[in-house]
Amino acid sequence: AKDAGRNTFRFYRTALTDAANQRLEIENRLRHALVQNELEVFYQPQVHMTSGKITGIEALVRWRDPERGLIAPDVFIPLAEETGLITAIGDFVLREACRQVVEWDRQGLPPLEVSVNLSARQVAAPGLLHQLRQVLHESGLPAQRLTLELTESTLMEQADTTRGTLQQIKGLGIALAIDDFGTGYSSLAYLKEFAIDILKIDQTFVRDLPEDRNDAELAMTIIDMAHNLGLDVLAEGVETQAQRAFLAAQGCDAWQGYLCSRPLPAASLARLVNDHEPE
Ligand code: C2E
Ligand code: CA
Ligand code: CA
Ligand code: CA
Repeated sequence: AKDAGRNTFRFYRTALTDAANQRLEIENRLRHALVQNELEVFYQPQVHMTSGKITGIEALVRWRDPERGLIAPDVFIPLAEETGLITAIGDFVLREACRQVVEWDRQGLPPLEVSVNLSARQVAAPGLLHQLRQVLHESGLPAQRLTLELTESTLMEQADTTRGTLQQIKGLGIALAIDDFGTGYSSLAYLKEFAIDILKIDQTFVRDLPEDRNDAELAMTIIDMAHNLGLDVLAEGVETQAQRAFLAAQGCDAWQGYLCSRPLPAASLARLVNDHEPE
């Protein structure tokens, strides 16, 4: 029994070391990826509900590893948040997305609004406001066409400092969206305090629409309450016409999902926007 215990301990120690080593390896490769320009921004269309037009896009980062191919953000964003690398990654995505949208303007695409994800680490960093001003200035993108997406947990963390920072961001003319709404613990009334403009209903509440009675109820309630508070509502993860139609009937303002398109590389997104026929 004693031996078994010792072996178990050894096993765990090895497992832990392996996990730690693996994380360290990914971290090192991620640092390298930043320097070697292996990060790329994909874009997913955001569709205006009543006109059916693509009016905006969300910037979503990808890692193109020479050996492993395209790596999804779920694999490296959490690690980037823990290690602080998210600041550099977020800076890259913001710059690249703003530059790209202005480039599309020049190419004659209809002017698109652009949404960029912001992690809690970035909101807490002292340089954020300066960075935002600089990116807007360098790219020439009007602030009114930029939206920053934050999660509920980012709002709840250090709520007092965050509130001040978000007010300053709003002061620049940038819009704020709450990402994955419904998965956290914030109330709609609480959101009002942060001068949020857009509420993104998380895809877990959209998936089983319109059949699931609870989710249907929830979607209706969220949309009504958000509208009463003066917020626009965008539904995420819309994959079927039935989901889109239900959300349209509830007055949802916009949607995003595979029904229109998966996130695409810049060139493909531009082709999609050019060929897109509103339904
Ligand atoms: P998110 O911000 O909630 O982004 C939406 C995710 O849902 C994207 O996954 C998108 O590909 C996926 N999605 C969109 N439509 C559908 C649909 O119809 N069905 C389904 N099943 N999924 C759909 P992606 O691109 O893998 O990104 C995952 C998460 O990684 C993002 O979730 C976001 O939290 C994070 N992320 C991505 N890029 C960035 C970034 O530049 N900065 C930060 N901080 N986080 C990022
Ligand atoms: Ca998002
Ligand atoms: Ca989301
Ligand atoms: Ca998410």
